[in-house]
Amino acid sequence: ATLREERIKKTKTVCTYCGVGCSFEIWTKGRKVLKVEPQMEAPANQISTCVKGKFGWDFVNSKERLTKPLIRHGNEFREATWEEALEFAAKRLREIKEAHGPDSIGYISSSKCTNEENYLMQKFARAVMGTNNIDNCSRYCQAPATEGLRRTMGLGGDTGSIKDLASADLVIIVGANPAESHPVLSTRLRRAKKKYGQKLIVADLRKNDMANRADLFLHPRPGTDFVWLQAVTKYLLDHNYADAAFLAEKVTGLEEYKRSLEAYTLEFAVEQTGLSKEELIRTAEMIRDAKSVCIAWAMGVTQHLGGSDTSTAICNLLLVTGNAGRPGTGAYPLRGHNNVQGAGDFGCAPAFMPGYEPSNSEAVLQKYEKAWGVKLPRSKGLDNHQMVEAIHDGQLKAMYLFGEDMALVDSNANYVHEAFEKLELFIVQDIFFSKTCQYADVIFPASPSLEKEGTFTNTERRIQRLYQALEPLGESKPDWIIIQELANRLGANWNYTHPQEIFEEAVALTDLMKGANYERLEGFKSLQWPVAEDGTDSPVLYLDGFQKPGGKAQLYPVEWQRPMVENEEFDLHLNNGRLLEHFHEGNMTYRVPGIEEKVPTTFVEISPELAAERGIQTGTLVRLISPYGKVKVRAVVTDRVKGKELYLPMNTPKAEEAVNYLTSSYHDTITHTPAYKETSVRMEIIEKD
Ligand code: SF4
Repeated sequence: ATLREERIKKTKTVCTYCGVGCSFEIWTKGRKVLKVEPQMEAPANQISTCVKGKFGWDFVNSKERLTKPLIRHGNEFREATWEEALEFAAKRLREIKEAHGPDSIGYISSSKCTNEENYLMQKFARAVMGTNNIDNCSRYCQAPATEGLRRTMGLGGDTGSIKDLASADLVIIVGANPAESHPVLSTRLRRAKKKYGQKLIVADLRKNDMANRADLFLHPRPGTDFVWLQAVTKYLLDHNYADAAFLAEKVTGLEEYKRSLEAYTLEFAVEQTGLSKEELIRTAEMIRDAKSVCIAWAMGVTQHLGGSDTSTAICNLLLVTGNAGRPGTGAYPLRGHNNVQGAGDFGCAPAFMPGYEPSNSEAVLQKYEKAWGVKLPRSKGLDNHQMVEAIHDGQLKAMYLFGEDMALVDSNANYVHEAFEKLELFIVQDIFFSKTCQYADVIFPASPSLEKEGTFTNTERRIQRLYQALEPLGESKPDWIIIQELANRLGANWNYTHPQEIFEEAVALTDLMKGANYERLEGFKSLQWPVAEDGTDSPVLYLDGFQKPGGKAQLYPVEWQRPMVENEEFDLHLNNGRLLEHFHEGNMTYRVPGIEEKVPTTFVEISPELAAERGIQTGTLVRLISPYGKVKVRAVVTDRVKGKELYLPMNTPKAEEAVNYLTSSYHDTITHTPAYKETSVRMEIIEKD
């Protein structure tokens, strides 16, 4: 080892896992990660981290890292030089664009990669290749929440900060499991409860750790959150418990909205949700009695046929009770990936340029055409759900995807794989040979967060810098460099030498983040958008009015979309979610030996009553079968779940147990987010332990 390698280096970084956005110093010696040291000045977490942030870094040195470009030869891949691989990809992209037009190619960006890399990917799709076919994985999770917020309050981000969640009088968590999915955030809530008696309501299908600590746990039938939310709001309005002054001054659309609630009586809600009248009234009264209320939600709400509408119902409830636009209140869709917020903020969606400016606005397009010196496309782009359909229809011929294991995380995996088989060209860029790589024609080895610089934006809209701790392993490269090298082979003339230049270009073009720059983000400093030109940021949104016409929020009437229900053949409801120890499809955490040994595999949770009825014990190997596919997992019998409701964590890189072989292609009607949470299965016993 050289002397330099022997020195201990301390580098400030941001966690590569969930959307809480914990930041800390990471100590390295050579390539060895020695420890993670949190600092008080870390804005989202101070001295807290969870098991993933603290111990989840050894994957960077895994022997399985991709370190050389690969090109497909029949059923095999062979190592290639960068020159060869980039030239191959550029040539094929050029040929396909010439033969079938720019809209025959789709681009998927990464919520695990930096803002700068996401900005470059959408610029690549739009400015270099001429299409709006660009999307990111928020389509799989929080796009419906963004829709709910945009309809009612205006901006597609959490309305306050983790600090507000921790200081609210009452927190309501709907369809989310922060104890496992957003651990440090749940620690803040636990502390708030202990310290000053913060009240907590949890609505979920599963009695998760937060539900155990709740003052009130609601267990509605699957797909009925919308109904109890509407009924509680109606009850509050009918009993004059709404915030009349707030409604008069700051909100429009009350009369029409009230009419839309007529059907949602307590009786109707009891009948549909299975909750009792007392539970519904107690919920309403807890909201009435709280000085400030925050509602946090996640995929239990969004991944349904009516995900956007239930998200809207949550925002409406907050508006009716005056719980928006002041500290300690508001709407908190909890972002899953570390940078899912940033991928959307920086324009990786077909309908939006960076800063959520519409991609069909002439004024916006002309601004970008002037800045980028190109003619931009006017055609409507495809989202990732539509891309899969377009491949099956023969319209989409090629894809370029980075940092996303779409083959495992999109719903109806078999259908997605069939689509990938049909592609004439599939370019995949990742740090590991993921399931998606199996379908690739060319694979570019990329670098994880510790090997590059840039920024991430957490669930609080907080932009934070990460600094480079390690050199890229082998021949792998940061994603922004790969995208630039490919762009330049396709006629662009990009000369970015550091992500800072990309960031400066991106934010200068937006109103949303104009005043953000690397100096203002130095070290542990952070900025929550919107960021004004003078650098003033916005920990709480809407203090001076909502981002809607006249500064008034909009009560937005919505209707219930009944969920798909079980039938005789597929008689069990299958829910899914996350494990504390693993992240997403597990490509990183299953390659951390300490974590992998502790939780080596996923499992299906089965209620004691169902287990008794079917003769199942913890350890029994079962097969779950849906109309779309099957998986094989071991059972865990637990009273966390009830009756015929099963729970299968999504965190596994093993195809034989991945939940998305069971999920369907049905989706939220507005945003096309898959209805992962509306899955019915039947269960067979394979063997008893
Ligand atoms: Fe990382 Fe999230 Fe854990 Fe914080 S809570 S350390 S961001 S995984």
